[in-house]
Amino acid sequence: MGKKEFKAESKRLLELMINSIYSQREVFLRELISNASDAIDKIYYKALTDENLTFNQSDYYIKLEADKESRTLKIVDTGIGMTEEELETNLGTIAKSGSLAFKTENEIKDGHDIIGQFGVGFYAAFMVADNVTVISKALGSDQAYKWESTGTEGYTIEPTEKEKVGTEIILKLKENTEDENYDEYLEEYRLKQIIKKYSDFIRYPIKMDVTKS
Ligand code: ADP
Ligand code: MG
Repeated sequence: MGKKEFKAESKRLLELMINSIYSQREVFLRELISNASDAIDKIYYKALTDENLTFNQSDYYIKLEADKESRTLKIVDTGIGMTEEELETNLGTIAKSGSLAFKTENEIKDGHDIIGQFGVGFYAAFMVADNVTVISKALGSDQAYKWESTGTEGYTIEPTEKEKVGTEIILKLKENTEDENYDEYLEEYRLKQIIKKYSDFIRYPIKMDVTKS
């Protein structure tokens, strides 16, 4: 499949994310963990009402995997996953949540404050990553799909392999510059600190696996 372009308003928010100031970048993790938790909520409630689905408490979790060698941070969830169409509609366009409508209207003028205060959603990943890959397998589907984007130019979607239902977000961290260091997001203590600050209320376990270089 060829490269698809983001919708205009998505493109504007993406630019805001990519250029956000350093101190606010850490909220990307809050956004991705919140999406992972929402996705687990969805499968959890489905399992409650569908007797053909059986889950144990231990089947529901979020896992962060940091690999220092490849400088990637993965956010893995055992949630409901996304079909090819859902990858397209959910990640190709800005979700129309209240805070996002507010943000795009009041855009940039106060962009920096807005990022810290409101849910900014999935695109927050681009505050720390220059390549974002989403591998997802939806509940009830045999085929997994991979969504990949390097930012404003657009994204691709193609079939891929994934055994379990759920989603993996793979962030290839931006290159460090003289004033900005992204390697901190590969450090266990730093990830724990961000989780404590923003995601303490999440009701699924957040596991962590940090691979040293
Ligand atoms: P919001 O969470 O406010 O809807 P986001 O930009 O954070 O907006 O996410 C957009 C949509 O993408 C979500 O509503 C959801 O449908 C989908 N999505 C994002 N992350 C995941 C995930 N880990 N698992 C399943 N769906 C996801
Ligand atoms: Mg969200």
